[in-house]
Order: sequence, then structure tokens, then C-alpha cells
Amino acid sequence: MPDFEDGIEATPLPAGTLETDVLIVGSGPAGGAAALALSSLGVPNIMITRYRWTANTPRAHITNQRTMEVFRDLGIEAQVLAQASGHELIGDTVFCTSIAGEEIGRILTWGSHPAREADYRLASPSLTCDIPQTYLEPILVSNAAARGTQIRFSTEYLSLTEDRDGVEVRVRDRLTGLEYGIRAKYVIGADGARSQVAADLGLPFEGRMDIAGSMNITFRADLSQLVATRHSVLYWVIAPGANIGGIGAGLVRMVRPWNEWLIVWGYDISQEPPRVDEQEAQRIVRALVGVPDLDVEITGTSLWGNNEMYATHLQSARVFCAGDAVHRHPPSNGLGSNTSIQDSYNLAWKLAAVLNGQADASLLHTYSVERAPIARQIVLRANRSSREFVQLFEALGVLGADGEQQMRALIEERKANTPEGEAKRAALIPAMEIKNYEFNAHGVEMGQFYESAAVIPDGSTRPLPARDPELYYEPSTVPGSRLPHCWVGDQGRKLSTLDLAPYSCFTLITGIAGEAWEPAARAVGEDLGVALRTVVIGPGREVTDLYYDWARLRGVAESGAVLVRPDKHVGWRAGTLAADPREALSAALAQLLGRRPTAAVS
Ligand SMILES: Cc1cc2nc3c(=O)[nH]c(=O)nc-3n(C[C@H](O)[C@H](O)[C@H](O)COP(=O)(O)OP(=O)(O)OC[C@H]3O[C@@H](n4cnc5c(N)ncnc54)[C@H](O)[C@@H]3O)c2cc1C
Repeated sequence: MPDFEDGIEATPLPAGTLETDVLIVGSGPAGGAAALALSSLGVPNIMITRYRWTANTPRAHITNQRTMEVFRDLGIEAQVLAQASGHELIGDTVFCTSIAGEEIGRILTWGSHPAREADYRLASPSLTCDIPQTYLEPILVSNAAARGTQIRFSTEYLSLTEDRDGVEVRVRDRLTGLEYGIRAKYVIGADGARSQVAADLGLPFEGRMDIAGSMNITFRADLSQLVATRHSVLYWVIAPGANIGGIGAGLVRMVRPWNEWLIVWGYDISQEPPRVDEQEAQRIVRALVGVPDLDVEITGTSLWGNNEMYATHLQSARVFCAGDAVHRHPPSNGLGSNTSIQDSYNLAWKLAAVLNGQADASLLHTYSVERAPIARQIVLRANRSSREFVQLFEALGVLGADGEQQMRALIEERKANTPEGEAKRAALIPAMEIKNYEFNAHGVEMGQFYESAAVIPDGSTRPLPARDPELYYEPSTVPGSRLPHCWVGDQGRKLSTLDLAPYSCFTLITGIAGEAWEPAARAVGEDLGVALRTVVIGPGREVTDLYYDWARLRGVAESGAVLVRPDKHVGWRAGTLAADPREALSAALAQLLGRRPTAAVS
């Protein structure tokens, strides 16, 4: 009997072909988070990855508030914090001539400046922390596995063929050389900046790859004495050669306090790639640390290219690319892993809703519509931040310096009681100030806003930002915004508003005057077969508006309602109680899910 309406018979799967709902290619931050999110929602999935284990270099580390909220929602925040250097340790970012050398300046980063701390603490229940990628990926991957993900290490993606009902993926087991197929309903290409999946889909890209050359050197050395008076996770070194290639300046980054480190140093990408042998690596480490006879153990070296490239469309009908596969940029601003995880968080609930028959497949189109603008934004921001280091070099007047001695003399000049010294000191102030756009870009990190068919506008526009939208996040419940955080609860517990809206369902938040939404939501949930919970905030109800902050933030009357999607973005809101709350909510939720009101999914 034909399987499909049009009479095409299903071809039986060849022997050895695996089947799953979602195949994830890559186990980095994007792939690991996708697997974890899908398994948390009960979606069968297989994750393949080329190597025998997770990341072997501690690339990403700064983990921002939005990502920590994702981890909180997926139940791994405590595990991440247990392995991380906490917020209190990541405040000072130091600009210096070497770790042992003189200070050019410092900036209080990631929201640790007293003038910014309130912005960050008011915005989220979670604070930025530092967890090296080598520690984070095993947490994502092991929790995904514990919740159901089938993981195939040493398994390489080769090719895919998409048809109307699924995707046939060819893979190779790198241990045996055996090639086999995996048949999936959907595929996530989370295979990094050289993504084969994105190439095979022919995704449209803008920008350029390999615009500058960087090298990573990981090493062990006890620097505790040298950093005792200026603990930091990032030390930017202005030294001869620091402005060639790379990420703006030389970087010495703490991996584990205070004996494991990573150096990022640039090279001229228009020349032959340098050979970084043990001796050369030691030379660079000793130069940047500023101790010629430092006892150092080199643990690894690698070369990588800085990119400025983003996809303007992220998917086909059944294959979605996430993470560095679609946004490729330098680590400036620490946005890469964070955005990769947030991509997957946006995508996984949509896949679950479609696979569970709660949403029309058209919901999946909103992935690219919502995330492609973010990809563009972060690629441009990170590259701009990297280039803005030039102002520091210009302020010091060292750009044209001829050799080490002259550079040192030019840096020294900032101390002189001369017109030149005074001019340098004045120029350093804005050069340092501009680095806030790299290290305190709270608006970029927290202000993601979606406009798509999965967001129902209510005629209002986002309030005009009162402050610089890259530096400052403005909470709002205008549909498309992330649900604002504030603390609610009762005498026994304190919760974030984000905690009220778990990833497994839609949540309608209202006040006591809006209690009529509750039976309406129950009926709509049953009509549409969608998990929809209602939370009434008010005295004597599920939670109380402890500080009366929700009343200020909710953007609707007490009788109104805010419909929160599983990924904590506002999907719809009603300013006041609707004449027919059931009809209003049903129309909104059905539209958001790509369905006609009360109609079953085709
Ligand atoms: C020095 C440095 C510092 C950084 N610091 C930060 C930071 O502080 N904060 C931040 O957010 N980001 C940071 N980043 C960026 C971050 O490392 C990346 O954005 C992040 O790793 C991207 O995650 P991903 O999962 O998309 O890709 P990747 O981490 O590159 O993972 C790709 C995965 O795909 C797999 N794969 C590739 N090809 C195949 C194939 N053919 N078949 C099967 N599997 C395949 C790989 O095995 C891997 O598991 C930094 C990067 C660098 C270089």
C-alpha cells in the first residue's frame, strides 16, 4: 500500500540505517545544547561528532546571563557554576605591557562596575561566569545522554539528501571506516565554522573568512604571585607585534586559577602560517608573561582564522544550521558559544512542537527569521570590537613603532610631564572607554528581539531605548521581547519570573483581575492539545509580586495577560481582559503555532 498521498511508495531503509527524529551533527556548544534541549523535551535524537570526545581546547569561557538562564531552565545551572570561575572573579580586565609588567589601564567588565552591576542584577536571576569550553561541553553532552540522546563519537558527517518526509544522512565511523546512513525527520548542522552541512545546503553567506590569523597556546605555569594584586580572567598585552593579525591585541587568559592559561597571539595571515614549535611557544609565553626564565609547560598549540561571516538564511525545510556554522567571528565580546547555545534553545522547542503534532511545520521557518538577524548582529559587533583595539595603539602612538625599543619608549611617554605625555593620557581615556562595547555590551547580550510569524504583534512598538541599546538592556513585554526578570514568590520561596515559564510548555502570566484567563487557558490548551499553564501573580495566588516589580514590568493592566513561549520570549499579550478570553487566546496561540484556531495539525 502506498505510504504517501501522492502514491509514492516509501523505500525500505537499507540494512544498517539508523532512524531518529532529529540528527544533530556536532557536539560543541550548539550541538550539545540542542541535544540537551531536545532530550529534555522527550524528542528522540542522535548526536554525531567527528572526534572521540568533546572540545580539547578551552576556547569559549565567558558565559553570559542569557545563556545561564538557558542552563537554569534546562536544569544544569548548578553544575555549570560548580565548574566555573564565578562572577566575582571575572570583573577586572587588565591592559598591560605583560603580566609582570606595567599597567596601561583596567576596565570593570561583564557588569562588575558598581554603576553597571545594578543593570545586570536587575535583568536576570543569573550572573555571567567563566567556564572553559573543555568543562562546559562535557556537562551539556553528559546531561543530554542521561536524558536520552544517543551519542556517536568518532563519527563523521559525509552528506545529506533531503526529501519530503525526512533527511538521509551518510556518515562514516572513523574507527572502522564503515559508512552507513541515518534517516532523520530533521537535521541540525552544528558542525562549526567550517560547516559542511551549511555548505551542502548552499546557505547564503555574507562577509569573509580568514581575515586575520591567530594562534592558541595553552600552558601550565604558576602565575599566582604575578596576578595576586590584579586577579582577572583576561589580560590584554600591548607588546611589540600585538597589533598584527589576531583579535586586536595579545591575550593571556586564565583557564584555571592561577596555573592553567591560554594565550591568543596573532600572525600575519597573508604570510606562510608560522611554525609554533615548543621553543617558539615558550618564547611567546615568556614574552607575554614578562618573565624571561618562566617555568612553563606548553600543553598545546593551534592556529585559527578570524572570520567576519554570517548566513542570511539558516535552514532548508528539514535541515537547520546553528552556532558557528552560521555566525563566524572573533571571540571578542564572548558571544560565540553563548549565541550558539541560544540558537539551539530557539530551535528545539519548535521541533518538539512540530514533531508532537502541536504546531504546523511552518513554525520551523521562524527559526531562520528570528535567528539570522542575531547572527548578523553578533558577527558585526565582535569584529568591530576587535578592530576598536586600534584606538589603544593609536593613543599610545605605537602603531608605526620601529622595533621593540622604540615601542617601549613610546609607551613610556604616557608618563612624561610633557605636552606629548599629556596628549597620550587624554587619548587613552576614550580608547579605554570604547572597550565597554566589548566587555559590557549588556544590550547585545540580553536584548534579542524577534519579529516572525511566531510572535503576534499587538500594535505597540518597542519603547525607544533611553540609553545606548548596545550597552544597555531595556526590559519590555512587547511581543518578541525576552520575558523580563523580577523576583516573585511568597514567604517560603523566591523565584524569577523566568522560573514561572518552564521550557516544556507555554505560560500565560496574569494578575488577580485577569483570573478569567485561567479557565480560558485550560480550555485552549485542551482544544489545541498544547501544554499551557497559567500563573496568576498576586497576593494569595501562586506567587506574589514580592517587590511590586512585576506590576512595573508587565506592560499590561492587571487584568491583561502575557503569553510566554517555551524559550521565554513573549509570543503575544493582551492589554486587558478580553471580552472572550478563550477566543482571544485560542486565536493567538493557534496563529503562533501556524494553525487555524482549534484545527488539528495537518
Ligand atoms: C580563543 C577563543 C575564545 C573564545 N571565547 C569565547 C567566549 O568567551 N564566549 C563565547 O561565547 N564564545 C567564545 N569563543 C567562541 C566559541 O568557541 C565558538 O563560538 C563555539 O565553539 C561554537 O560552537 P559550535 O557548537 O557552533 O561549534 P564548535 O564548537 O566548533 O563545534 C563543532 C562540532 O562539530 C563537530 N564536527 C565538525 N565537522 C564535523 C563532521 N563533518 N562530522 C561530524 N562532526 C563534525 C566537531 O567535532 C564539534 O563537535 C571563543 C573562541 C576562541 C577561538
